[in-house]
Amino acid sequence: MVAMSESNMINAQTDESLKEAPLQEITTNVLIVGVGGQGVIMLSKVLAALCQEQGFDVKQSEVHGMAKRGGSVFSHVRFGKKVFSPTIPQGNADILVALEWAEGLRWLSYLNPEKGVFIADTQRIVPPFACRDRRRYATSGYVQESVEEVINQVPNSSAMDAVAMAKELGVPKAANTILLGALSTTLDFEVDNWKSIIARFVPPKTVEANLMAFDTGREWIDNFDKQTQLENSVTAVTSPLEIWPVEQNQAVVEINAAWCKSCDICVKFCPERCLALDSQQIATLIKPEACTGCRVCERLCPDFAINIHTPAVN
Ligand code: SF4
Ligand code: SF4
Repeated sequence: MVAMSESNMINAQTDESLKEAPLQEITTNVLIVGVGGQGVIMLSKVLAALCQEQGFDVKQSEVHGMAKRGGSVFSHVRFGKKVFSPTIPQGNADILVALEWAEGLRWLSYLNPEKGVFIADTQRIVPPFACRDRRRYATSGYVQESVEEVINQVPNSSAMDAVAMAKELGVPKAANTILLGALSTTLDFEVDNWKSIIARFVPPKTVEANLMAFDTGREWIDNFDKQTQLENSVTAVTSPLEIWPVEQNQAVVEINAAWCKSCDICVKFCPERCLALDSQQIATLIKPEACTGCRVCERLCPDFAINIHTPAVN
């Protein structure tokens, strides 16, 4: 375990450089980043509420103006005895939690270069403007750095496929809570306190699923081994737009109507104009024969309502 070992916990009793001041004198800076629809704000609200409940002065600031269109969302959470500014200066984040891979890399300069902890989801949501060419063999302007390269360069870092983990648990929308579980291992708060705050912030019928996701994130960190990650990470971030041979069969577009919130993003951005909203305002495939399997709709859907199945390549 590297990033979240006890010696890396953001706690005045365990961090040598902070020992001289009592815990409450220290301002702890947590930066949470991602894109619209991933639950960045929920995470930061849980953390801020927990800190407040524990008697800290808390300042939280967030930007989520373009969230609905897949834009960046970030939230600064600062807590301590007295916090004067709501924003974290560059190079001063004690913890950077990234719910989306490129967003994490974009904010790395805010992480304390020596003792900052980086926790990232390897999920990639390609921003609309990075999809300049959506033909079958096209590439996008999405960042090319592999997990291996980043993990090698950032001392206290770990990268997980939280979306896959959440899907495996049967709660695909709880990837953010898995990240929260990972974050919780870096801060000196009781697990029960985290859980009672989570239960207050998520919809009542999802409490159990979210608590399970939270535990999964904690367990993943407990079992995290940097060397294993480095050995396995080459495949964790693949090429921006996977390609498949023209002669193979048609891609299958699977749309989960229950998750579609009618935002229209997939309809607007499908390069082949294959999609439309139906009379119920749910995304539907209207031109299956034209679909190239480019995955643009899958990657842009903020609610993970689309899955593209492309034929296996022999
Ligand atoms: S399926 Fe399309 S319309 Fe529905 S939420 Fe996803 S991007 Fe929006
Ligand atoms: S439906 Fe989705 S996968 Fe098919 S062409 Fe449109 S954006 Fe690409």
